[in-house]
Amino acid sequence: MVFETTFYDILGVQPSCTPEELKKAYRKLALKYHPDKNPNEGEKFKQISMAYEVLSDPEKKAIYDEGGEAAIKQGAGGGGGFHSPMDIFQMFFNGGFSGRKSERKTSNLIHTLAVTLEELYTGTKRKLALQKNVICESCEGIGGKRGASQKCAPCRGTGVITKVQKIAPGLVQQCEERCRNCRGLGETIDDKDRCKECNGRKTVRVRKLLEVEVLKGMMDEQRIVLQGEGDQEPHHRPGDIVLVLEEKPHPVFKRDGQDLIAHVQLQLSEALCGFQRVIKTLDGRDIVIQSYPGEVVKHHSTKCVMGEGMPLLQMPGEKGRLIIQFVVVFPDSLPPEIVPEIRKCLPTPPQEPIPEDGEEVNMMDFSLEQYQKASEEGNSGDGRDSDRFHHGGERVHMQTCNTS
Ligand SMILES: [Zn+2]
Ligand SMILES: [Zn+2]
Repeated sequence: MVFETTFYDILGVQPSCTPEELKKAYRKLALKYHPDKNPNEGEKFKQISMAYEVLSDPEKKAIYDEGGEAAIKQGAGGGGGFHSPMDIFQMFFNGGFSGRKSERKTSNLIHTLAVTLEELYTGTKRKLALQKNVICESCEGIGGKRGASQKCAPCRGTGVITKVQKIAPGLVQQCEERCRNCRGLGETIDDKDRCKECNGRKTVRVRKLLEVEVLKGMMDEQRIVLQGEGDQEPHHRPGDIVLVLEEKPHPVFKRDGQDLIAHVQLQLSEALCGFQRVIKTLDGRDIVIQSYPGEVVKHHSTKCVMGEGMPLLQMPGEKGRLIIQFVVVFPDSLPPEIVPEIRKCLPTPPQEPIPEDGEEVNMMDFSLEQYQKASEEGNSGDGRDSDRFHHGGERVHMQTCNTS
């Protein structure tokens, strides 16, 4: 006489059932209520797993039969100590809790997930439709009628063929190859006994919708791992689905870790006389930046706005900096008649006396940047090279000269 029958009822078996009947009941229900098939029956799947975990273990079964669920939970330390339903499922289909084969895992499925900088800023949920193999429900992963499978002869049931190749006189190389006769399954089934649903493959291809959460502050190339969501295969632990984030380039912002960098173009008049600009943030707000009265903004100067960079993954409330780099656009020429007026408004330049025998030479267009790039390629650089450049093998130091 047992204390209560709830666990037996969940699996639809009698308390007097044999271990074989118990296994069969679990197999049937676990496949039916697995979240891959029945995403809304998570609670049911959990109950089935818990019931099976207890009843399949003679020690736990004895405790349950005597004192019911309460006794089991007490014994397991107040409800803990149970395996996760997925673990139970995987261990069952791997051939037992201590199965040697349980270390075999199907390969991970790797996908790229392209995300915008906006999505990495605000965080987002993305739905993905993926194809994956799941254990065939119709034959319960056996591939056909029970007992119809036979050990594959060419590979002797191992699923792999070992080949010995002579690569040089007296030197051989061994390599393993997936058996073609059984497609690596280690067994074959006669055509007439094969499962119609999976054609003896033991698994069927299904389309699965997955929801992935991209968290605020995630990075380019960051991996999101959906554990155990990979292909199912009998005697294998399912691998993972790995999503690799790919940050799409943004027209305004460039990301540097937790900081954002934006270039702001100013006309010379704005650089000299003041400017105001609106920048649309990645979450759609308008922030206004401006110069203070009388300020001159120099070409290539930078400023930053604290807290307008990317959110930190660990602390999404905290944000990096928005670094603004100014690009001042100079006019190509000025009307000669206004030049004296402008000169009057600007600081007086130092007067440089021209020696009597000074020679007048021509200047040509020249890009120092390109020149430095070319010379850096043959130069290890000691960090101070930015203000020096090679000139015919000779180092020339650039200095600011004040002559009056
Ligand atoms: Zn099947
Ligand atoms: Zn084989």
